[in-house]
Amino acid sequence: MKFAVDLHLHTALSPCGDADMTPNNIVNMALLKGLDMIAITDHNSCANVEAVIDAGRNLGLMVIPGIEVQSKEEVHLICLFKKLEKALAFGDLIYASLPNIPNNEELFGRQLIMDALDHITGQVDKLLLSSSSYSINEIFELVNKHEGICIPAHVDRPGYSIISNLGFIPPDLKVDIVEFSKKASLEAVFNKMPFLKSYKHVVSSDAHYLWDISEREYFVEMEYISANQLFEALQR
Ligand SMILES: [Zn+2]
Ligand SMILES: [Zn+2]
Repeated sequence: MKFAVDLHLHTALSPCGDADMTPNNIVNMALLKGLDMIAITDHNSCANVEAVIDAGRNLGLMVIPGIEVQSKEEVHLICLFKKLEKALAFGDLIYASLPNIPNNEELFGRQLIMDALDHITGQVDKLLLSSSSYSINEIFELVNKHEGICIPAHVDRPGYSIISNLGFIPPDLKVDIVEFSKKASLEAVFNKMPFLKSYKHVVSSDAHYLWDISEREYFVEMEYISANQLFEALQR
């Protein structure tokens, strides 16, 4: 069966994420748009993942724990995990690897931590838009150790992508699948970068605002909705 997914969403924790990106708003909007599964992928932190998973459980939507890591090379990588505790442990490592640069709220916005009832319970201090000290290779290795999957993000975009920054996908990296932006024309992407045809791909919204969350546009083939089924489909 085909299930509609959006595997790249930011919450109000991401400084560039809208304050309306609360756990319940995200889940309710995803349900309204007819999605079967979403993933939460804030910049360099998993601090809101559990709240959205709990909101999803209350409202009837499967939420996959994730994070969008910015590597040492300023490359964005979507890291998804089967298990919440593995995601949280990985998130702690990534946050600890960020430089000690405090967030500038006026410039970047607040970095809000919320609970499953959308109450603000705190803020993250370090600026989440910095680069981790881990390289792409180290991040792939760490994600693998935490039973996750690492997906090079928005490879069609001119910034913060593995191709824009390195010019290619290193052959020694175990890349199963790459992510294209919602706005990308697949024809244009493949014309410009024909080598991408040899990779599986997923299309995600990278939503920072509620209205940007995907509708029933992008599908993953699964027998039923579960994290294991998703991982099998992405890695198949
Ligand atoms: Zn990104
Ligand atoms: Zn993003």
